[in-house]
Amino acid sequence: MQDSYDIAIVGAGHAGAQAAICLRQMGFAGSIALIGEEQFPPYERPPLSKEYLAGDKPFERILLRPETFWGERQVDLQLGKRVTAVDPVAKLLTTSGGTQTGYGQLIWATGGTPRMMDCQGSNASNVFAVRTRADVDKIMARLDNTQSVAIIGGGYIGLEAAAVMRKLGKQVTLIEALDRVLSRVAGPSLSAFFEKEHRDHGVDLRTGYIVDHIETDEAGHAVAVRCGNGERIAADMVIVGIGIIAQTGPLIAAGAAGGNGVDVDEFCRTSLPDVYAIGDCAAHANAFANDRVIRLESVQNANDQAKVAASHIMGTAEPYQAVPWFWSNQYDLRLQTVGLSLDYDQELVRGDPASRSFSVIYLRGGKVIALDCVNATKDYVQGRKAVLEGVPLDLTELANPAIPIKEVSHA
Ligand code: FAD
Repeated sequence: MQDSYDIAIVGAGHAGAQAAICLRQMGFAGSIALIGEEQFPPYERPPLSKEYLAGDKPFERILLRPETFWGERQVDLQLGKRVTAVDPVAKLLTTSGGTQTGYGQLIWATGGTPRMMDCQGSNASNVFAVRTRADVDKIMARLDNTQSVAIIGGGYIGLEAAAVMRKLGKQVTLIEALDRVLSRVAGPSLSAFFEKEHRDHGVDLRTGYIVDHIETDEAGHAVAVRCGNGERIAADMVIVGIGIIAQTGPLIAAGAAGGNGVDVDEFCRTSLPDVYAIGDCAAHANAFANDRVIRLESVQNANDQAKVAASHIMGTAEPYQAVPWFWSNQYDLRLQTVGLSLDYDQELVRGDPASRSFSVIYLRGGKVIALDCVNATKDYVQGRKAVLEGVPLDLTELANPAIPIKEVSHA
């Protein structure tokens, strides 16, 4: 360990790890520290609510790189260390152990911590988030003694966890406060499809249910979720998937502009000199979000912003303009999403959801802005081009799954 590094990367998740990888690939020869709070080398987060939770993939298979990679690339991987303060003038980081590390340039890639329920019982020992390997290991350790699981939150993580828990034979109740699942990210057609799928697979799905508190026994274990409507949902375990809070505290305290995330420009630069922010914690104006300032929580964004920051450091940056994409696996369904449906004014279903292979196409002003493709990879690939081109298309042809999207006429 050195006292100072040319580049310090804080957060050893998808974005931080990718930034270190890109810098070396681009020929950066200076010193790099990759500092992470978790005890584990960088690993893929998506399997945590999918194959890893299901026990289908061991941890070694979700590592982003083999453990030896970092040393071989002269990346000083410092694990189990939380950065608690940033001094942007002296260019110094302070870690939880009290040690100080200097930096020439700083890449902040700290992701987010799961938002937990702010109610009685939410700290019970069998109430879990799904964000880190440690979270999921705790869930897995209790599965033998768990018959029933209450999942709070009908976003992707809650739905994926529900699918895995059903596969493992657990009784699952999914509680969503709004009137449909996935309401933050998708239109009503996709929500209705996934609601039916989960119900068909035996999930007791409750939309429009507001959690009042989590009931605990004398030992402090959660035994039920109590809802505002008076209903009591008994559970041996509670999983909470209601979003994240961007981890930006030390950077904002150091004077960086931001609110929901750290504000960055098209090169991922924060308002502090020589400080970049990337990944889930970076708030940026996104052309695919109608130029709104957003945080994107996806592997695509983490990797692409890492590339932009690394290439800016190397003096070769192109502004961040990557088309957003995302995926989710539930049961035997593979959802692939391209673009962002934010501010859509028309939703078009291509194909029959009952066939379990179809796409939902989102348009704004007649132009395709996003697609949610369920078991429809061809639509996903060809739809990406339509999103990028932004040309108005013939809607009747677009809705017809017999016509490949790439052959749809212009309107
Ligand atoms: P993270 O991967 O969260 O990494 C941030 C790291 O920084 C963490 O290890 C954290 O401990 C560390 N850290 C935080 N604060 C500090 C500090 N002060 N000092 C030191 N270290 C710190 N995306 C998809 O595209 N497809 C999917 O199917 C998908 N599924 C997902 C399933 C789950 C269960 C989860 C949790 C996420 C999923 N995502 C998925 C989202 C994707 O994993 C994230 O967008 C991605 O991990 C973001 O990368 P990041 O590096 O910004 O943050």
